[in-house]
Amino acid sequence: MFPIIKRKTKGNQRCFGEYKCPKCNRMWMSGNSWANHGQQCIKCNINVYPHKQRPLEKPDGLDVSDQSKAHPQTLCEKCKILGYYCRDSK
Ligand SMILES: [Zn+2]
Ligand SMILES: [Zn+2]
Repeated sequence: MFPIIKRKTKGNQRCFGEYKCPKCNRMWMSGNSWANHGQQCIKCNINVYPHKQRPLEKPDGLDVSDQSKAHPQTLCEKCKILGYYCRDSK
């Protein structure tokens, strides 16, 4: 079973996203955030969509060390849809 690949939208770009789980209120940030894609809360195992997204080019004082950290592929909806590491896609 493969998910239906949607046609590319304008916002189909990697960006910096801020997430907040509505269940446990856990907050996290990711430099591997995609428009219309969520990431899973590691505690609740629910898909959470970013409430805030900004371009990667403008770190805005935020910690961008996320780039060097391991990306939690199992939690990333984009990785699951692609079937491979989402950072490898453009
Ligand atoms: Zn949670
Ligand atoms: Zn990913």
